[in-house]
Amino acid sequence: MSVQTSSAKLVFDCQHFINGRYFSSEDGRTFDNINPATREVIGKVSEGGKKEIDLAVAAARRALNGRWKNVAADERIQIIRKVGDLILERKDELARLETFDTGKPLSLSSTLDIPRSAFNFHFFADFLRGVGTEAYQTDDTAINYAIRRPVGVVGLINPWNLPLLLLTWKLAPCLAAGNTAVIKPAELTPMTATLLGEICQDAGVPDGVVNIVHGFGPDSAGAALSEHPDVDAISFTGETTTGKIIMEAASKTLKKLSFELGGKNPNIIFADADMDETVSTTLKSSFINQGEVCMCGSRIYVEREAYDEFLDKFIEKTKGLKVGDPFDPNTNIGAMISAEHTERVMDYIALAKKEGGDILTGGKRPEGRESGCYLEPTIITGLSRHSRVVREEIFGPVVTVIPFDEEEEVIAQANDTHYGLSATVWTNDLRRAHRVAGQIESGMVWVNAWFLRDLRTPFGGMKQSGLGREGGIHSFEFFSELSNICIKL
Ligand code: NAD
Repeated sequence: MSVQTSSAKLVFDCQHFINGRYFSSEDGRTFDNINPATREVIGKVSEGGKKEIDLAVAAARRALNGRWKNVAADERIQIIRKVGDLILERKDELARLETFDTGKPLSLSSTLDIPRSAFNFHFFADFLRGVGTEAYQTDDTAINYAIRRPVGVVGLINPWNLPLLLLTWKLAPCLAAGNTAVIKPAELTPMTATLLGEICQDAGVPDGVVNIVHGFGPDSAGAALSEHPDVDAISFTGETTTGKIIMEAASKTLKKLSFELGGKNPNIIFADADMDETVSTTLKSSFINQGEVCMCGSRIYVEREAYDEFLDKFIEKTKGLKVGDPFDPNTNIGAMISAEHTERVMDYIALAKKEGGDILTGGKRPEGRESGCYLEPTIITGLSRHSRVVREEIFGPVVTVIPFDEEEEVIAQANDTHYGLSATVWTNDLRRAHRVAGQIESGMVWVNAWFLRDLRTPFGGMKQSGLGREGGIHSFEFFSELSNICIKL
């Protein structure tokens, strides 16, 4: 796979990767891949559908029952580690591709997205050595022990915000548990996934174990994969509404499902918190990756006595963020994913004004950058808890700030949502930290931190933010089936 990545211009055509080979769709259909920072076409993407999904699933099934089945765990560990090594070897190339595709700063793709993608493989390869099962002795009557088997052919459907990071977060444990995969990358970010096919092959992953089909979701490759009768499980990350559609499609053959969905996460700041640390981390949890992170703390609640101090400092720091060319090392906020998504976020800003909100900073496209998908980081106050802007996921660099007086009141507001992905609590009061964290209805709560990850911990959302957990043993639970064997003594 040759990619021109030496200059700020790039042309990279993305083909499907099926059974160890790159090829175009049979009918030759393609769609344009657009760089959101410049709105230029940076390549053609093969548009797959049912036909390509059928081919990929058949290849994955053959590989599952063929060579992959006979690869010993030790060899599997070596191969999976090697994928991580090769990602690190090609780190610069992958980081540039990720930035071209998403508009995110190169400083972010090269320090977060790509190193973490490599670590996903290293982590799950190493973790495999320690994975066991359970055994129970029933007096002197019987002994029971469980064995772990792969689930089978697994569909991995991915979003555009952290393309390679989230894809590898699924693929690494999927392979470690002995499954084969059919990957459907987000249509807006096909490049690093395409290169991953070659990387897997170079690492020794047998043909057919990893297959990649490009295309759209509804009535296209995504739908064909989620309803395919020979796919045993689907691991999906994306919007809550899409999750519901996939669940319905998958129900026909009762596939095993893992969903990481949307969020509208509270960031709760008590007056006794260390305000400088709170502000600098809140800057990240609000605007990193243009606010296009499912765990972003876009609902900020501040105890009234610290409200003015927090806002003054937060506004000042936000105004200091540089929005611009993702390849400029001084850029903090790059381009958003697409013109359509930027419009959607702008519509929420217009709605905030209608709902009585005050835009304290941002709220518009930066001057001189109207041609790219840029938006200034935006802070909104004056909205009620019932406002749509406070309740709906915006997935952009937009946060609301609301004061509160009582602990119970802020817990109730934090929980007043159908989402339940993550939350942050800022306080130096140890008892309050435990008390509040334990009452927030979300899969993950950070105290005096944000996005501080240990890959062994359960990751995922409650309510309509997800189904199941990923990370450590939780990923292995999803990607394997247990068979209990009972031996009469
Ligand atoms: P999306 O749901 O629009 O698309 C995600 C993937 O699903 C894409 O590959 C798309 O082609 C596919 N898809 C769309 N419709 C489909 C259908 N009918 N059948 C099968 N596949 C279909 O999401 P997005 O816009 O790419 O990503 C943003 C969303 O993802 C946000 O809601 C964000 O919160 C969520 N997200 C969640 C997490 C998490 O860990 N919880 C992480 C990242 C992103």
